[in-house]
Amino acid sequence: MVDTTDVVVVGGGVIGLSLAWELARSGRTVRVLDQAQPGREASWAGAGMLPPGNRRRARCAADCLRGLSHELWPDWSALLQEESGISNEFHRCGALELGSQSDDDLELTARDLVERGIQVDRLTAAEARDKVTGLSDRVAQALWLPDFCQVRNPRHLKALLAACLRRGVRVEAGEPVVDFHHAGGRMLSVRTPLHSWEAGQFVLAGGSWTGILSDRLGHDARIEPMRGQIVLLQLPEQPFRCIIEVGKRYLVPRRDGRVLIGATEERVGFVKENTAEGVSGLLAFAESIVPSLKSARFETSWSGLRPWRPNGLPLLSWIPGFRNAAIAGGHFREGLHLSPATAQLISQLLAGTAADIPEECRFETSR
Ligand SMILES: Cc1cc2nc3c(=O)[nH]c(=O)nc-3n(C[C@H](O)[C@H](O)[C@H](O)COP(=O)(O)OP(=O)(O)OC[C@H]3O[C@@H](n4cnc5c(N)ncnc54)[C@H](O)[C@@H]3O)c2cc1C
Repeated sequence: MVDTTDVVVVGGGVIGLSLAWELARSGRTVRVLDQAQPGREASWAGAGMLPPGNRRRARCAADCLRGLSHELWPDWSALLQEESGISNEFHRCGALELGSQSDDDLELTARDLVERGIQVDRLTAAEARDKVTGLSDRVAQALWLPDFCQVRNPRHLKALLAACLRRGVRVEAGEPVVDFHHAGGRMLSVRTPLHSWEAGQFVLAGGSWTGILSDRLGHDARIEPMRGQIVLLQLPEQPFRCIIEVGKRYLVPRRDGRVLIGATEERVGFVKENTAEGVSGLLAFAESIVPSLKSARFETSWSGLRPWRPNGLPLLSWIPGFRNAAIAGGHFREGLHLSPATAQLISQLLAGTAADIPEECRFETSR
C-alpha cells in the first residue's frame, strides 16, 4: 500500500503516541506504526513515577528535560482527560526518599536537590512515620519531596491512544518496520512485511528496538534494552499515599490499594520475563521498608525493557544524513516522565522552529 501522510511515527509507546497527539493537535496528519499492540511495552510496564524538576536551576541536560516535563504534566494530563474522557490518575503524591546507604548519603542527596531548585524537607523518623504508617523502625531519617507526582501509566496509554484516534491519527498495529526507502538525503517510505508507508517526515520511536532500526540506516544510536522487573501487591485499601524511594528501588501506591514494588536493572538483551531472584529480591525489599506488606496479597509480576543509552540521556535528533527523519528514543528510566517534553521538542524540530534540545541529546555527527 502506498500512502501519504505528513508524519509517520514508528513505535506506539508513550513517546510515539505523545508525539503523535502533539503533532495532530498542531494540525499535522499522522500515522503511527507499531510492530505489536501500541502502548504494551516499556510504557505499560513502568511504574509511572514523575520526579520534580526545575528548569531555572538546571545544571545539566537531564535537568532541563525534567524541568520542562514537570512544567507540562499538569496541563498535559488535564487536556488529555478532556479529549479522551479517560483519567490517567495523574496526581502530586509526594515521595519519601530513604537513601540507599547512610545518613551522610541522604544529606548529600538533599544538598544536591536544593542546588537544583527542588523543594526538599529533612524529616525525623517520627515525621517520616507520620507519612507512612508502619514504616520500618530501622529508618532513622528521610527526605520529603512534596512535588513528586505519579501517573497510572497503563491508563495514560489508553488515554493517549483514544485522544490520538479522536484527532484522526491512524494507528496501525502489527506493522513491524523492517526496512527503509530513501534517496538523496530524504526518507521516502518505511517498509513493513506487507506495506510501504510514505510520508513527508518520519520519527523512529521504537523504544529499546530503536537501535535496531537505526543500525539499518548505518547509525549506531547506542540504545539497548535494560530489563526491569516489577511485583504488584493488592491491599484492601491504600496503605500509604506517597512514593517511597530507596536508591533505584521503590514502592508506588495506587489509589485502589495496589502497591508496585520496583525494580530490577538487568542487562539481559530482549528477554522479558520474571526470575525467582528478581521477584524474591523485590518482596524482601518491600518487607524491609514496610514490614506489614508481607501479608498483602501477591497479585502479579511483570517485566519490561527500558531503552538504555550509555550517557543516560535520550536521543532527540535528526538522523545524520537525513533532512526529514528523526529519532526520539533511549529514555531509559524516565520515558514516561519525559514524554510531554519529548513530544513538544520533537514537534518543534519537525516544524523547523527553535527546539531547545540539549546538545548532548543529538547524534554526535548530526547537523
Ligand atoms: C520496570 C520499569 C519501570 C519504569 N518506571 C518508570 C517510571 O516510574 N517513570 C518513568 O518516567 N519511566 C519509567 N520507566 C521507563 C519508561 O517506561 C520508558 O522509558 C518508556 O516507556 C519508553 O517509551 P518508548 O515509547 O520509547 O518505548 P516503548 O514503550 O517500549 O514503546 C516502543 C514501541 O515501539 C514499537 N516498535 C519497536 N520496534 C518497532 C518496529 N520495528 N516497527 C514498529 N514498531 C516498533 C514497540 O512495539 C513498542 O510499542 C520504567 C520502565 C520499566 C521497564
